[in-house]
Amino acid sequence: MTEQDHHAQPANLAGLYDVRERLSRAAEDCGRDPASVTLVCVSKTFPTEAIEPALAAGERVFGENRVQEAMRKWPDLRALYHDLELHLIGPLQTNKVREAVQFFDVIETLDRPKLAEALAAEMTRTGKRPKLYVEVNTGAEPQKAGVLPADADAFIRDCRERLGLTIDGLMCIPPEEGQRSPHFALLSQIASRNHVPLLSMGMSADFELAVQLGATHVRVGSAIFGHRPPIVSE
Ligand SMILES: *Cc1c(COP(=O)(O)O)cnc(C)c1O
Repeated sequence: MTEQDHHAQPANLAGLYDVRERLSRAAEDCGRDPASVTLVCVSKTFPTEAIEPALAAGERVFGENRVQEAMRKWPDLRALYHDLELHLIGPLQTNKVREAVQFFDVIETLDRPKLAEALAAEMTRTGKRPKLYVEVNTGAEPQKAGVLPADADAFIRDCRERLGLTIDGLMCIPPEEGQRSPHFALLSQIASRNHVPLLSMGMSADFELAVQLGATHVRVGSAIFGHRPPIVSE
């Protein structure tokens, strides 16, 4: 990285301003209040220097996909910004549940009974209650996390009735190939028939479409922060 890049990067808010404008326009175009859609800035792999300008510009909701990485990056920033809302958007292993419940405000990736049980136990133990979204594998892709669409109603009922969990939202990551709208529409149908209020769907490439189909939260990374550095395993 050259000296110039180093100084240019933190001040670069063009991506964020562009995303904000496109988000408002997408909401207005379909008759929704722009304030009804929350931008989750996906800061995974980006260092705090890249995140600080977005905070200074007023963003407060951020998404990270790894518990350990988030716990390295965010405590100092949290000391400065007390009204942050941190979302876990990556897979959660049961052996990280304690840290995740302690650290995150929203866990978007509840995707199996074992995890639901571990979360319920930890939330009872600590009294800390992060919001929970159920991840649905709308494309039924074998390599992807998430409950299958056909199992979603039963899973949500089990979380509520057996474990006493509040399910605040649903989340999906559609397949890379093909149309996104059937996936967003499916997630929205599952949410509405189960009376789940929040819908986390839409990323850099398709957040406007997701807003048209009812997203309350869009998870946008590269359109804000630029190209992601390669993921280094821990
Ligand atoms: C990385 C990631 C995003 C953001 O993706 P972009 O295409 O960079 O906007 C959104 N959701 C999840 C679950 C992710 O892992």
